[in-house]
Amino acid sequence: MYNNIEISTSIRYNKSYKHLQPITNKQINWAQSVLEKCKDYLLLPKDLKIHFRPIYKDIYFGLYCNDLKTVFIDPRQNKSRKTFLCTLIHELAHADQFENGYLEDNDDGSVIWHGVLHPCIGNINYDKYSNLPWEKDAEKVVKNLLPILKK
Ligand SMILES: [Zn+2]
Repeated sequence: MYNNIEISTSIRYNKSYKHLQPITNKQINWAQSVLEKCKDYLLLPKDLKIHFRPIYKDIYFGLYCNDLKTVFIDPRQNKSRKTFLCTLIHELAHADQFENGYLEDNDDGSVIWHGVLHPCIGNINYDKYSNLPWEKDAEKVVKNLLPILKK
């Protein structure tokens, strides 16, 4: 059984991000409207959290931190519902990869994917990054789930 997924944001407590409140609230509603359905298709940690806050400028739409069991979403990106859903599903797919044991993070920045060690992926360009097998796998999940959740 799943606990409720905890959704939070630091936007409302930070003056310089106050203007992001409306779009953040919108994205929180979008998340709440699909999360129950996501649980039917993905193996998610039972203490999963979703946190809305600016990440690094213009780079990440979202990211998943397995240590914190937290999906971070940058409300400055993801302004349309479709873009938001793509980001959310992509990050939840990473959570699912970790929960299933397909993906493991090492302290030195290397990654194990289905038992194969990938050395530190630090500074690679976007094309190379999106071709990493766990990224391609996450995008496959987006492609499959988006039509179901978009309804
Ligand atoms: Zn990814």
